[in-house]
Amino acid sequence: MQVVIRFDELADYLAADCDFIVELGEQKGIGSSSLIIRKCGKTILVDRGLAFEGAGAEKLTTYPVGADLKDIHIDLMIFTHVHADHTGLIVPTILAHDESRVIFSRKTLEELKIVLADSLTIQKKEAKKAYFSGLPAPAAMFSEEYVDTFLARAEGGFYEIVNTDEEDEWFSFEDWPDWDFGFTFSGHTPGSFISFIKTPDGDGIVATGDFCGHDQETTEGVPTLRENFLEMGNFRECRRIILITEATNGNRDREESQEEMDTRLKAVLDETERRGGNALFPVFMVNRGPNIVMKLVRLGFKVFVAGGVRKTIKAEIEPALLDKWLADGTVMLIQNGKDYEEQLRAAAHGEYGFRPIVTSSATLDQGAGVDFAIQMLPVPENALISTGHRFDGSAMKEFFEIKNKPLGPGHTIVLNRMDRNFRLEKKVVNVRCGGYHFDYSAHPYCRELVTLATSLNPDVVFVKHCTEEGFHGLESALHNELGEKCPPISWARHLHLFEL
Ligand SMILES: [Zn+2]
Repeated sequence: MQVVIRFDELADYLAADCDFIVELGEQKGIGSSSLIIRKCGKTILVDRGLAFEGAGAEKLTTYPVGADLKDIHIDLMIFTHVHADHTGLIVPTILAHDESRVIFSRKTLEELKIVLADSLTIQKKEAKKAYFSGLPAPAAMFSEEYVDTFLARAEGGFYEIVNTDEEDEWFSFEDWPDWDFGFTFSGHTPGSFISFIKTPDGDGIVATGDFCGHDQETTEGVPTLRENFLEMGNFRECRRIILITEATNGNRDREESQEEMDTRLKAVLDETERRGGNALFPVFMVNRGPNIVMKLVRLGFKVFVAGGVRKTIKAEIEPALLDKWLADGTVMLIQNGKDYEEQLRAAAHGEYGFRPIVTSSATLDQGAGVDFAIQMLPVPENALISTGHRFDGSAMKEFFEIKNKPLGPGHTIVLNRMDRNFRLEKKVVNVRCGGYHFDYSAHPYCRELVTLATSLNPDVVFVKHCTEEGFHGLESALHNELGEKCPPISWARHLHLFEL
């Protein structure tokens, strides 16, 4: 059975004695992830994220419904990985639910320390920006005190912290008879895992979270689940296997192999160097930043790193390797201090030699990337390189729309930068550099989604974290692959409640 509910009806469904799942986020397409699983009298929350839409000053944050869910009794929370669309609200949610057990990974905690500090800094800057623009301060999502409390509890053993980057884990809780939980690395980003829940009625639930079937520079892909992991939890013996999978790339397969893309990237950079230019890589600081730094070094380039990527490389690249690169000058980090602007200018103008710049943020809507773009986009010899999804409404997307038009006057882009006094400046930038896109996705393509799903032999499939095209792409690929044996497939989108 499937019904569309209002959030205020959720309490009634929880009070009734029935099992179901319902997604509280993902209002449109992918967005923020926050799934409620109600099973055998327990309420489990998988992720509590937030999503960013639109660009620059018009940027909107979308939240899952239900704020911190304070009127709902939650028995267990699972946070699948550090990305904001999965853990953006982890701090207020956990602190509003002392009754709940909490599970996340050691690596997720390590990266949360970086991104929570970054969120607090951004919150402070936004408040100052609003003040100087004569606007009311935006509501803070959480305070420094909240973050400190959360981190102290995490270190103090309040939560179940798994180490899935190192080993698979199966465990149970004494006061939850006949429940078993399994976690295994998902290949998406350091610290990400796939969750397995064996319930007292014999069902087995698999929530993939975000995963990745192909290798990235810093992580190995997970094309199928290891049989010995499933055996450890006797998972194949479950009465039914209920699969809840992501499908970010459900409607597409790779157009270019990893090797072809790397070869093309190297050719673009060699050509940029030959004509005396430099290359700018605005990236998301988590996962993509460290991956691009690793890739560039592997392809034989020296790298200049700025913004939050300076912190995430320390969490995601093996420390001894990174130390070696820093010592021998392979990787250079911009240093905070009074000559920061001078280092930025020198790097942008190639005065440290040909040294591609890897910096946040991928959308070019904020962060250090904007300062480099202002200096680099007007120079025809330079290259701007996008290595991920180009979000609608972002300055990055606008840049590529300009690049695709025939050459002519008026090729400008407006970038928002914050000056030293937290005042928002609109910079009109003449776009004359080259632009290149490489689809280094950290999500599984359609074929990989089908491989993982069929290897589990599920009895029911729910598809989430996808656009409508993504859902239909995976649905028809699974029908093609399994024919008559294909299990029922549903799109578990915003406030659609499915009885289990
Ligand atoms: Zn993710």
